[in-house]
Amino acid sequence: MPLDLILMGPPGAGKGTQAARIASERGLAHIATGDMLRAGVRDGTPLGLEAKAVMARGDLVSDDLIIAMFRERLGADDTGAGVLLDGFPRTSAQAEALDGMLDGLGRHIASVVVFDIDLDELVRRLSGRRVCRAAEHVYHIDFHPPKVEGVCDEDGSELYQREDDHEDVVRARYQKQWVDAATPVLDYYAGRGLVERIDAAKPRDEVARAVDLLIDRLDGGS
Ligand code: ADP
Ligand code: AMP
Repeated sequence: MPLDLILMGPPGAGKGTQAARIASERGLAHIATGDMLRAGVRDGTPLGLEAKAVMARGDLVSDDLIIAMFRERLGADDTGAGVLLDGFPRTSAQAEALDGMLDGLGRHIASVVVFDIDLDELVRRLSGRRVCRAAEHVYHIDFHPPKVEGVCDEDGSELYQREDDHEDVVRARYQKQWVDAATPVLDYYAGRGLVERIDAAKPRDEVARAVDLLIDRLDGGS
């Protein structure tokens, strides 16, 4: 049975950092809708053009657009062993659409791992986050610096600060995307007994251990 997991948490909680590692270690597909949208912005696709201003404000991109983009991604042939969803679903409509898509494939969400962390720590993390232009590899100027300042260890591309990682947008994203939009999504999964919480304010290695223990338990039971 494929292992389909959702990583949920406020922007900056460390979902992408853990998802990239787990996906490569376990052969799961890491699907990050934010990364896909930024690739569209970079390449100037119609989707990117539509999403650019919305993302810069810290608002959510429309459900229709996100669901269509996700449906296409889920159909790719690297998703057979399971998917790690990072940043999707973010609204109840997206969660319901996801359920329908998985159902059609005879699959279901095994767990929703929630990354608990407070706003002050998120501001610290996001103000220091740097990502690479080529492939969205993630660094932090203090907590996870690259070997050479401003250059990606993995592919040598330039590191930049995301437009929406400035403090005012970080605070807006936290309120709009986490406090307001995520609550009904969490309730939806909690009602089905799928929610597990981890302390995401801990250092990377400790967070990694907590998530790995959880996934080992699920994987053994699937
Ligand atoms: P998300 O995908 O949830 O938005 P990221 O994985 O991009 O979050 O992490 C946000 C920032 O915090 C990045 O700069 C990352 O290097 C850093 N980071 C991730 N996990 C930790 C951690 N456990 N402790 C300190 N910094 C972290
Ligand atoms: P992220 O990289 O996950 O922080 O996402 C960056 C931005 O992309 C968000 O602030 C939203 O504007 C947009 N976005 C990413 N995923 C979604 C989604 N599932 N639904 C709506 N908007 C999204």
